[in-house]
Amino acid sequence: MGALWHGFADMGAVEREGAFVVARGEGAYIWDEAGRRYLDATAGLWFTNVGHGRREIADAVAAQLSTLAHYSNFGDLAAPVTQRLAERLAELAPVPGSKVMFTSGGSDSVDTAAKLARRYWRELGRPDKTLLVGRRLAYHGMHVAGTALAGIPVNHDGYGELMTDTRTVEWDSAESLSTLIDEVGADRIAAFFCEPIIGAGGVYLPPEGYLEQVRRLCRDNDILFVADEVVTGFGRIGGSWFASTRFGLEPDLMTTAKGLTSGYLPMGAVFVAPRVAEPFFAGGVWFRHGYTYGGHAGSAAAAMANLDIIERENLLDASKNVESLLHEHLAPLAAHPRVAEVRSGLGAVAAIQLAEPSEGPTMVKALRAQGVSGRAAGQGALQISPSFVITDEQVAELAAAIGRALG
Ligand code: PLP
Repeated sequence: MGALWHGFADMGAVEREGAFVVARGEGAYIWDEAGRRYLDATAGLWFTNVGHGRREIADAVAAQLSTLAHYSNFGDLAAPVTQRLAERLAELAPVPGSKVMFTSGGSDSVDTAAKLARRYWRELGRPDKTLLVGRRLAYHGMHVAGTALAGIPVNHDGYGELMTDTRTVEWDSAESLSTLIDEVGADRIAAFFCEPIIGAGGVYLPPEGYLEQVRRLCRDNDILFVADEVVTGFGRIGGSWFASTRFGLEPDLMTTAKGLTSGYLPMGAVFVAPRVAEPFFAGGVWFRHGYTYGGHAGSAAAAMANLDIIERENLLDASKNVESLLHEHLAPLAAHPRVAEVRSGLGAVAAIQLAEPSEGPTMVKALRAQGVSGRAAGQGALQISPSFVITDEQVAELAAAIGRALG
């Protein structure tokens, strides 16, 4: 029996059947301890966007750690590399003049945004605007606010009431948000949280026009629009740095993590539009919030090297190409009797929705037997979110392996 308690796992099953131990990675591939190679269909948990084994990031981190690993980001403290990263991110931000607050990961980013949204309205003299609205099927990390406002009921079960003043609307209907606004009143709603593509809830692409409609509703009703781009940020959407850029969403707050460092070290960032930052930068007002490792110098060095790679190798274009490749190569699988639907065509993400959702774990094992490391998201959706360096041949190899695993 091992001591390691895995996240999101039936530990009894892990104890019985053993862990899948990943020992090494290079490009779009990983290797297990026995030296067997697997195509990495998910880029870890949607993060290894530049591929595994990038020496350049490791070297940048080593150089930073041997100069200064980290000190603090509280009060007036900062590291040079953290300041440089914030400036660089502000240049990429969907809203010009954005401020950047660093966190240790996506859940931190979401809970930071949830608290900041409420504080913002209080600073503006509207303390009744506290309701946080999320969508059915949404995933916003595992901290208290993010769990409460997300729309995956099994993740709420067994904890009592996590947080007051959260509500959920339909994931695919602007009408549903509009109805809630009419019902409770815009003067009660602080923010609407929106994943441009529903990720962990099963990879659901937004209906045509949906994102623009909910964005407009929020603007018209003075509700902060929070784009949760933990998955879609830093190129995953294909052809642009953020989904918010591609769809012209101009989010009031944008939560990110994962692709910021391609997962080489943990780090997240919350982008805050000037309108929201302004009361806190005017002087005399504190946002009493921060994380010990927010803006960690080693993580910031990893992020800088990661952004260098994305720019130098044109990986935003590569991601757009992966979007087309996945769409083309996975489409024929929709005809398989075990497949209910293939969802693809927006970003370097796709899902093979199994007709029988409970077959997810069996299919993940069957995929491994075919040399692919995959994962089931939502209700039996095989998640496909490879690194942007995956080649045409490797996407074909992936589709063929899925076909064989389906039997
Ligand atoms: N938000 C979204 C949309 C996510 O997909 C995730 C993680 O998958 C998170 C937040 C939480 O990020 P983390 O696991 O880094 O805390």
